[in-house]
Amino acid sequence: MVRALAQQTDIRLDDVEQRLCANMDDRPPGTQVDLLVIHSISLPPGEFGGPWIDDLFMNRLDPEAHPYFREIQDLKVSCHLLIRRDGQAVQYVPLNRRAWHAGVSSFCGRDSCNNFSIGIELEGSDDQPFTDAQYTVLARVTREIVALYPSISRSRITSHAAIAPERKTDPGPHFDWRRYLNSIDPGLA
Ligand SMILES: [Zn+2]
Repeated sequence: MVRALAQQTDIRLDDVEQRLCANMDDRPPGTQVDLLVIHSISLPPGEFGGPWIDDLFMNRLDPEAHPYFREIQDLKVSCHLLIRRDGQAVQYVPLNRRAWHAGVSSFCGRDSCNNFSIGIELEGSDDQPFTDAQYTVLARVTREIVALYPSISRSRITSHAAIAPERKTDPGPHFDWRRYLNSIDPGLA
């Protein structure tokens, strides 16, 4: 019964490919989701278009396919949404559940940001611009997320680098925050 109820309340975005992965669990009871974290990822680092990001989230990354994959093959990670270079969006974790994207992290004095955040990965790297298609789709899904979770104000949209500054740099210097934030509903507080 409880399982059935949990299934019914899973929040999935329309017009987004659904590929549920195993790297998720429940948020702590009563948690208010009020933070959006923007990431970037590329596998192998700096290369786009392969199946490897999906393989990582689906726990089937081939350690023989690239030397770097041996280092990360045992990682259990995920995100709520991945936006590929061509703007294709894939949802790996329902928004109401906890994705494993932030790791050791802190926002305004609250640790463990996975508990209360939604994580979006852009296929990208620290040294290349993101694509127009990615900005377009990111704006659309952000509007949908903010409509579902009104506590995510403009000041509560942040980067992985900001919540884990010792470990992370993503989405990196090429992510155009002004373009992104201006593309969201201007009424966003
Ligand atoms: Zn990240």
